[in-house]
Amino acid sequence: MITTDICIIGAGPVGLFAVFEAGLLKMRCHLIDALPQVGGQLSEIYPQKPIYDIPGYPAINAQTLVDNLMDQIAPFHPTFTLGERVETLEKQDDGSYVITTSDGTAVRCQVVVIAGGLGCFEPRKPDIVNLEQFEGRGVAYMVKNPEQLRDRRVVLAGGGDSALDWTIFLADIAREVTLVHRSDTFRGAPDSAEKVFELAQEGRINLVLQSNITSISGNGHLNQVSITAKDKTVTSLPADNLIPLFGLTPKLGPIADWGLNIDKSAISVNTTDYATNVERVYAIGDINTYPGKLKLILCGFHEAALMCQSAFKYVYPSQKLSFKYTTVNGVPTF
Ligand SMILES: Cc1cc2nc3c(=O)[nH]c(=O)nc-3n(C[C@H](O)[C@H](O)[C@H](O)COP(=O)(O)OP(=O)(O)OC[C@H]3O[C@@H](n4cnc5c(N)ncnc54)[C@H](O)[C@@H]3O)c2cc1C
Repeated sequence: MITTDICIIGAGPVGLFAVFEAGLLKMRCHLIDALPQVGGQLSEIYPQKPIYDIPGYPAINAQTLVDNLMDQIAPFHPTFTLGERVETLEKQDDGSYVITTSDGTAVRCQVVVIAGGLGCFEPRKPDIVNLEQFEGRGVAYMVKNPEQLRDRRVVLAGGGDSALDWTIFLADIAREVTLVHRSDTFRGAPDSAEKVFELAQEGRINLVLQSNITSISGNGHLNQVSITAKDKTVTSLPADNLIPLFGLTPKLGPIADWGLNIDKSAISVNTTDYATNVERVYAIGDINTYPGKLKLILCGFHEAALMCQSAFKYVYPSQKLSFKYTTVNGVPTF
């Protein structure tokens, strides 16, 4: 069991900045995110776009902002569980909580901060016969650890950036890589598409265009995919892993069942400290709602600061909180 002061659900920009504000008050944080990387919408949806309304930065690339936030919080040694979705919240007799993830990771904490943005990004699942039956048995919708695909026969499906990028990356790792795409052009970056065509010409990957994977089979574990071409011919391919990459859609998910006041898929909070109706549970960033709410990164940063001032009483019940500027106190690490 992981033990921490504050468990932050969501490692988007707001969850990351909350670690800094908590650290200034000597509160330790553990972050959990369903995605395999930190950064939330910035890293997942628009990593290369410039943002123009972060105070002090006339323009900053979204991924650079995430990298800077990671540098800023490094002195407070946050710990992370990535690629796991938070499922349950259980109140303990002493008022603390135990949070459990989809993979069974348990975190005990004094305070829970939901910084879940638009919700959990859930994979869009293609229409493939037996797909769900082989989830976790060869079928996965994201690559958490590419090493697990070393020397395997991997089939990817999709035509966007993720499908192209992973095809290129896995060409050096997997025993055999096949990319199946329904069209003969790709939506992803043109230079990645060009690289994929080059790899196919060199015989380092198999490219199956104008085709869809229509069914999969195996004996306990995936061992074959069936591909139907536009002209209706069906071919079968031996495979150890299938990775359909058709994008992600956000869903509030299990958090919706935690007894929180929900208003149109967002969590209602009071604007004094962004507390929810459940004691010791706060909600900050895009996931919360209140009169006048703006879904902006800078608003989430402000909410993180006020939330931490309030959460302090649960972590250090016998201490009085005195407010100090960083210019005066510096960034005292622990
Ligand atoms: C194209 C685009 C452009 C934008 N441009 C700007 C801009 O110029 N300026 C600006 O201020 N804002 C902009 N935004 C909005 C900005 O990205 C959001 O306000 C910001 O990302 C909110 O941060 P967050 O940390 O609250 O949530 P998110 O960035 O959404 O991160 C939330 C994280 O929580 C995780 N999560 C959710 N539920 C669970 C769960 N149950 N278990 C585990 N993990 C979970 C998700 O996987 C996600 O990684 C833009 C958004 C988009 C889509």
